[in-house]
Amino acid sequence: MPVNYADYRDIDIDAMDAVVVGSGFAGSVVAQQLAERRDMKVLIIEKRPHIGGNMYDEHDEAGILVHRYGPHIFHTNNQRAFHYLRQFSGWLGYQHHVLADLHGEYMPVPFNLNSMDMAFGPEKAERLAAKMIERFGEGARVTLSELRAEEDPELSEVADFVYDNVFLYYTQKQWGQTPDEIDPSVTARVPVLLSRDNRYFQDTYQGMPDKGYTALFEAMLDHPNITVCLNTEAESVFDLEFSGDEEDAPLSAIKLHGKEFTGPIVYTGPLDELFLARFGRLPYRSLDFVYETYDVEHKLPCGTVNYTVSEDYTRITEFKYLTGQSAPNTTIMKEYSRAYEDPDAQIPYYAILSDENRAHYERYRALTDSLPNFHPLGRLAEYRYYNMDWIVALALELADRIIEGEGAAA
Ligand code: FAD
Ligand code: UDP
Repeated sequence: MPVNYADYRDIDIDAMDAVVVGSGFAGSVVAQQLAERRDMKVLIIEKRPHIGGNMYDEHDEAGILVHRYGPHIFHTNNQRAFHYLRQFSGWLGYQHHVLADLHGEYMPVPFNLNSMDMAFGPEKAERLAAKMIERFGEGARVTLSELRAEEDPELSEVADFVYDNVFLYYTQKQWGQTPDEIDPSVTARVPVLLSRDNRYFQDTYQGMPDKGYTALFEAMLDHPNITVCLNTEAESVFDLEFSGDEEDAPLSAIKLHGKEFTGPIVYTGPLDELFLARFGRLPYRSLDFVYETYDVEHKLPCGTVNYTVSEDYTRITEFKYLTGQSAPNTTIMKEYSRAYEDPDAQIPYYAILSDENRAHYERYRALTDSLPNFHPLGRLAEYRYYNMDWIVALALELADRIIEGEGAAA
């Protein structure tokens, strides 16, 4: 049985037990769990013309499987998330490799002991590596901020090299700010690695769904209890009621088709959008993607090349490495980071983490705290920088809580 799609106007809301906004991992995992474990009838409202959120992939005109919202590689140490997803797809044991293009020379990222050899020559690198290992331990993952706090002149030299050649220009392109200006947790995602492991991620479980992410989502949402309404924006079908007229008056009810919906409502879109930006827009970064197809088997030496000292795009990804597809031609994708200025034309990809933006977000979040059946979840609704695996894990936990609550109420 395929996914059950319907027009929102034809939905009998009385027949629904739960409403989920968004069909990325956050929304789809909760929907699947409520449908399967509690036999709940779940309505998914999705504003895009397809399911799968940012994980959506499809074959392009050249027949190459491409990701439409940025390259997505699954990696996790969370056993529950990985085992859960394995139900819906076979997995390819893909391990992602990234090289930085330093004016035509390729250097492994994260910066590791092999990168150190290239940067300083084998003799000096050996001495620096020994010093780094003595200070931080073999195999350690040292964040840029930790490394830059070191006072030893030789460690400072390594820190300066990494700052100047790996982080500075890439971060300026990606965030419009220097690595010193952005939240340190962002650059900490790509630490200096005191080993010769050239993989981008070191997690226990890594891989790609063997038929792609869209096929995985189709398998996940293929359930008689789940109905999906595409091309439907929550703002246009939710009727919000507040406990007063003032701007900060909390949400008291959400009506659908003119009736208060009292079952669980899981919301995975941006909270500022839901409240029509009444406190001003939350800041995000957006991206533009430019695809190019070539009549060669491979265009790049590995899955992704990061442009850390040149070019105005941040990185190029060649999908065939990720998806394991074999074909005589190939498609690559360049990523250009942009300020998020036009919600009608752009997608909010990255929350810009800062105390000020977090406080701005919390003002929106406070509007929803009063409504116990409303659950904000996901990278957008929580204004966080979550990878897919965290979202899957959090969605499973939210489903547990909803199911336990239902059990208690029953
Ligand atoms: P989304 O996937 O964004 O899904 C939200 C859904 O809600 C969307 O379908 C959207 O259309 C819908 N929606 C939003 N607002 C509304 C509304 N008002 N009404 C109706 N529908 C609405 N993670 C990894 O683990 N590995 C990677 O390699 C990786 N690469 C990434 C690359 C890029 C460029 C980006 C931006 C992210 C990457 N991520 C990666 C993170 C990953 O995309 C997120 O963890 C994941 O998308 C979070 O799932 P989600 O369901 O919270 O959000
Ligand atoms: N980064 C960098 N140079 C690199 C790789 C990463 O400066 O070669 C910085 C940059 O600020 C980036 C952050 O580290 O936004 C996190 O990188 P990651 O690859 O995790 O970003 P994502 O895949 O989420 O876009």
